[in-house]
Amino acid sequence: MKALATAVCICATLVSAAAGQAQQRAPLKVFISIDMEGLAGVVTAPDVSSTGPDYAHFRTIMAGEANAAIDGAFRAGATDVIVRDSHGSKQNLLPGDLDPRARLLRGVSAGPKNMMEGIDSTFDAVVFIGYHAKAGTPNAILEHTSTGNVVDFSINGVSLPEGGYNALVAGLVDVPVVFVAGDQAVVDQLRGLLGPIDGVAVKQEIGDASLGLSPKEAQDQIRRGVETAVRNRARAKPYVMKGPFTMILRVKQERPLHPGAQRTGAGQFTFTSPDLLQILNAFNAMK
Ligand SMILES: [Zn+2]
Repeated sequence: MKALATAVCICATLVSAAAGQAQQRAPLKVFISIDMEGLAGVVTAPDVSSTGPDYAHFRTIMAGEANAAIDGAFRAGATDVIVRDSHGSKQNLLPGDLDPRARLLRGVSAGPKNMMEGIDSTFDAVVFIGYHAKAGTPNAILEHTSTGNVVDFSINGVSLPEGGYNALVAGLVDVPVVFVAGDQAVVDQLRGLLGPIDGVAVKQEIGDASLGLSPKEAQDQIRRGVETAVRNRARAKPYVMKGPFTMILRVKQERPLHPGAQRTGAGQFTFTSPDLLQILNAFNAMK
């Protein structure tokens, strides 16, 4: 009985120590948006299409890069990590493959946030994994902007890749993008827009082919890179643009006009709003 009493006593001490530690640890929330075109090894559309012969393989690479980023975030002190599956159907990451410390936002969502669904002002840092450059970017792998139909999308004269307008969505709630992984072109492109954020180029385009790191090496670099970026998050600034906002969308195939938008030429549309999310609604309707 005495032994049992001692055991209970130690146990209670451990519990209260753990509770004390939890209280001392400040919340640090990291939001990871993960696409597929910029994953290690991906070079053509079938690699990231559910009907492609190697899709299952690239799904496991997607999980590997997600888990490397999650681990890097927790090593930097994260207390909560959300992963937004951001590619196509948003059902590429298999839930059982994900590091159990993170939560997964899976499936297409209604509303304008799309690849940034789930972001809010409680987050401290955003990480982009598997990202790709905008439509028309030279020396880029699988470059496009949201759909194959978009020629260019700009807001207030700034031509934006997905990482650009997604950074603006994070900027609306004052959260900075601190890290990007993808091909060399997207890393360069986002640094040009957002400033000198941390990043890992897992591959580069060479004459429509891809020269890249092994998935294992890419994941090691992402783990280290995300850890450093989250630790140094105070260096990154939220990406913000002053309203009102005017978008110019150029497309190959015209879609029906979104209410309030104007057609300004063949395949060219404009829309103005003080609300950035309304701009993204118009973009999503006509892209
Ligand atoms: Zn994608």
